Amino acid sequence: MYNIEICPCCNSDSLSYSYGIISPFISHYVLGEKPSGCRFFTCNNCGFRFFEQRFDDDEVERLYDDYRGPEYFQVRHKYEPWYSESINNGIGYNEQVIAERKEQIKKFILANLSGKRRFNRILDYGGDRGQFIPDDISDERYVYEVSGVTPVPGVTLVDDIDSVGNDTFDVVILSMVLEHVSDPHVILNKIHEILTPDGYLVLEVPYEPFKYKNWFGNKTENYLNKLANSPEFILKAIDLYSTLFRIKFRYIPPLGFVKLHEHINFFSESSLHSLFQLNNFSVISIERHYQDTKSFINDSLLCLVKVEK
Ligand SMILES: [Zn+2]
Repeated sequence: MYNIEICPCCNSDSLSYSYGIISPFISHYVLGEKPSGCRFFTCNNCGFRFFEQRFDDDEVERLYDDYRGPEYFQVRHKYEPWYSESINNGIGYNEQVIAERKEQIKKFILANLSGKRRFNRILDYGGDRGQFIPDDISDERYVYEVSGVTPVPGVTLVDDIDSVGNDTFDVVILSMVLEHVSDPHVILNKIHEILTPDGYLVLEVPYEPFKYKNWFGNKTENYLNKLANSPEFILKAIDLYSTLFRIKFRYIPPLGFVKLHEHINFFSESSLHSLFQLNNFSVISIERHYQDTKSFINDSLLCLVKVEK
């Protein structure tokens, strides 16, 4: 991993920090080492929250090659017994969830672009099998995916994004990707390039705010380092307890910890505004979406932005 010292959304170096732990799953599966402490930053300028430690290219490959495959599941389930096989295999395959998400994206685009009902080419960037692309608002549908999956009927696979010419797509969807990536600017630059001059980006990221504090003041770092090195069953129990509270009550409980897992970025409306501005996109709409299904989908921030060329 490598460390960053400025906010990846607004480039400010005015940052506050607290402490966390690199999750046992990531430590084992990606880094090949024991869990350790890490730092969790908040940008004082735009409010973005992120981990100081970022995945390098090799680590990204280890984590996302064969993503949710048998070995991934085995290691993750070992450290997070609550991550069940049905969760692992269900993500992206539930027909009802797929239909709801397609409809949600379609409504969102059409509601914000009055008069515009149809596009030429839509690309879902990192969009699995392309199953979430609304099927009746464009002539052609594409999915950029490197994991080797077969796209659903009607969707064309792009497996090398550098082979795509400039000004190719009039809509790009980037859904539940940016929270994973070490440098969001790299992807946004690429999308800027491949969008037509009057193209739109539909960006969706999880909305997962939570409160936390350093329960042991300036001894917190020390406590978390010790906890990271404690017997596996203790770390597992406190991980479960922290995860439950974070998801259900949106705060990290006493003795609990923030963990560096697959999500290393935690966006807010203001951090997204900064990110878009730096990358030459103008904001049309940013909405919070609260999920009411029993899907494995997070609450999210859904953005529609227009490219500026
Ligand atoms: Zn910032």
